[in-house]
This record gives sequence, C-alpha cells and structure tokens, in this order.
Amino acid sequence: MENKKNFLSKEKITKQNRIWVRIASVCNNRCIFCLDSFAQNWTFPEENEIKKQIKDWYKKWYDNRVIISWWEASVNPKFADYVRYSKELWYDRVQTVTNWNMYASEIFCKKVFEAWLEEVTFSFHWHNETLHDYLVDTAGAFKKSLKWLIYIKKNYPHVIINIDIVVNKINIKFLPDIIKFFMKLWVYEYDILQIIPFGRWFQENKEKLFYNIEENIKYLQDTWKLSKVPGMYMWTNRFPSEAFEWYEDLIQDPRKIKSEVMWEWKHHFEPFIVSWWEIKQDCFWIACEFCFLNQYCNDFIKNRDKNKLESDSSYEIIRWEEFPSQVYEKYWEKKEDFIKYLKDIDKLLINIPKCLWWTGIYESYNDIREEKTLEDYTYKYINNLYRKKSLRCNSCKYNKTCEGIHINFIRSYWFSILQPEL
Ligand code: SF4
Ligand code: SF4
Repeated sequence: MENKKNFLSKEKITKQNRIWVRIASVCNNRCIFCLDSFAQNWTFPEENEIKKQIKDWYKKWYDNRVIISWWEASVNPKFADYVRYSKELWYDRVQTVTNWNMYASEIFCKKVFEAWLEEVTFSFHWHNETLHDYLVDTAGAFKKSLKWLIYIKKNYPHVIINIDIVVNKINIKFLPDIIKFFMKLWVYEYDILQIIPFGRWFQENKEKLFYNIEENIKYLQDTWKLSKVPGMYMWTNRFPSEAFEWYEDLIQDPRKIKSEVMWEWKHHFEPFIVSWWEIKQDCFWIACEFCFLNQYCNDFIKNRDKNKLESDSSYEIIRWEEFPSQVYEKYWEKKEDFIKYLKDIDKLLINIPKCLWWTGIYESYNDIREEKTLEDYTYKYINNLYRKKSLRCNSCKYNKTCEGIHINFIRSYWFSILQPEL
C-alpha cells in the first residue's frame, strides 16, 4: 500500500516537462567514475544556443522544470543569467546539480538565489573527507561542498537541497550510513545512481569500482528501507529493477531510458540503430554485462529478424500502460484481481509468463525495417519489450525461455506476482 502511494505521487513529478540544459563542457572535480571526462573540452556553449534551448523546450500547460547542469554548471560565468532567464520564461522550477567546491562564495550564493535558483543537488559519494575526496579525485572537495551545503540551508531555507550519490564498490557497504549522516543535516531527498560502464570508470577504474548487485543486495535493501522514513524522498537511477524487490516504488520510470539514449548519448546510440547495428557502440560487448542498457541493446539485435505479431481475434496481447495508475484503471488495483482477470480471458494470452498463464508466448518487435529511427525503436522498446523478471526467477524451471512481464506490471503489482515453479 505504502509503495503504491509513493509511486502514484512520483508519477505526478514524472509527468512534468523536465529538461536538462548543458552549459559547461568542463568540471572542476575529476571523479574516478566520470562518464564523460573524455568529452570535456573546457568550453561553454554559445549563450544564444543555451537560451534558445531553454525557450524552445518550455511547454505551455505543463509543469516545467529546467535542470541547468553539465558538467559543472556553476563554473559558467553566466550561470545566474540562465537561472534568471528560465524564471522569466515562467519555468516552475529551476534546479542545478553541482559539486559547488571551488566557485561557491557568499556573493555567488546571493547572485544565484536572487536570480531564483530553487533547487540544488549536491554530489556527495561518501560521508567523510578521505574517501569522498578520493572518489572525486580532488583534495578538499568534501569540506568545501559540506560548508556550502550548511551555509545554504542556514541562509536560504526556502531552497530545496538534495544529494546524489554514485554507488560503487568502494561505498556500497556504507550507503545507508552516508544517507543517515546527511539526514542529520536535515537532507531528506536523495538521488541514488548506479555506476555505468562509460568514461573513466570503465577505461581506468573498472576493477576498483565494479560491484556485483546480487552479492550486495543487503546494503541496497538497507538503503531502500530508508525511503520509508517519513518525509524522505528517494529516487534511483540506472539500477536494474531486480534490485528493488519489496521496494518496487523505487524502480525508475521506464521512460527515463529516452533521456539516456535519445538525449545524453544520442551520438552513441543513433548510428547503432540507424545502421541496423552494423555500426556498434565503442562499449559494445566488452561492457554490456555491467550496463543497465544491456536489455535495450540486446533486444534490438535479438528482435531485428523477427516478425511483429499481427492482431488476431484468437489471442489477447497484454501490452504496457504508460503509468501504473493506468494499469489500475484498465485492469485492477489488487494483484489477485489482475491474476483472476487474466485467467478469465477466453483467448491465448501473449506477453504473460508461464507462472501466470500456461502458454508463455511473447510478442517480438520488428517493424524496424520500415521505421529505422532511434526514436522509433526506443518507444517500441519501452512499450513492448521492456519486460523484467525477479532474481527469484533464477530458480524457476521456465527461466531460460521466459521473458517475464512488462516492467509497469511489476511496478503496479510488485515482483511478488511472479511465482517460480521449481
Ligand atoms: S549494453 Fe549497449 S550501451 Fe551498454 S555497454 Fe553494451 S553496447 Fe554499450
Ligand atoms: S517465475 Fe519468473 S521465470 Fe518463472 S515463469 Fe514466472 S516470470 Fe518466468
């Protein structure tokens, strides 16, 4: 019940028009897990270009949020101007993600908060100096960031402060303690990010930073438990959904993949899809086993030669619904009623695992030959192919051939709807 309440309230936030505007190709930390360190060239995009993006991406009648970031936005001398400009265009919320470690000062805070910066996400990856500074590869970073966090809390109490933490082999066992430390400073909103195999992490620090999720599930679950503390807001990013059994409200909205592949790493994925995987990403194969996009990339290859199932009155295809609230509207709120609904359908069911209905037949997707765009595949993947199983499925006799069920049914009825047969 608690899970359901949480994600229905998160659903409202994910319906926002959220845009990310990059204003600096430079960062003053050197995080050892940085995704994009190789792409930094110490320049700032043109002012006109930035303002055009802020203006063009605003959507009338939506709740609009702009996140001014990347890499370290606060080093751009025009940072406060972009904050003010966004507010003048009536953005409902202006947010930044920052390490705040060099540039911050009382004058700087006055300038950006008077321009109406409303939300600041600080990156902290440990709760003491030694290991935070090691992870961000910058001496003195922890002390400086902490100082400015406390300063802003005290002097600008209306500003929303949250913290993002990149989870890796070095900090995974201490993740609950890191959060508890910052809770003592009255920070109750967290963005927990799974490390991904791009940039410095994979090329320079793979052995140091990679961790196995299954072996560390206890620490993750202890962390997710903290999301139930009253007043706490926890978001997660790029984790495999299997890590959230019993905490399914924390599974990332499946549409978030759009911003990864169609926005942040478009240059990386577009050639792969458009060339029908003749042009592979640099990371292909060597990094896939560590990557949360494994299913996205591999489903494209797996499905590309298969035919799409055409509608037929002898079967019923169970596809996704955009939001869990729509799953409840179309089907039922309780998983028992949903299971009964499936059992009462007098047709072959498609896309339902054998533990819920006997056939275990899945629809594949491939009209990619006609519609070869990144957008097209991404939407089709999210709608049709984004199916998941539980870690418990490893013991199920159907595991090898089973594809599970669409992620939004997991988010709606939890993993416990899946019942392994031994
Ligand atoms: S799954 Fe895709 S994005 Fe991830 S490492 Fe493999 S090819 Fe690259
Ligand atoms: S328990 Fe898991 S592997 Fe077994 S049929 Fe259900 S979804 Fe498939």
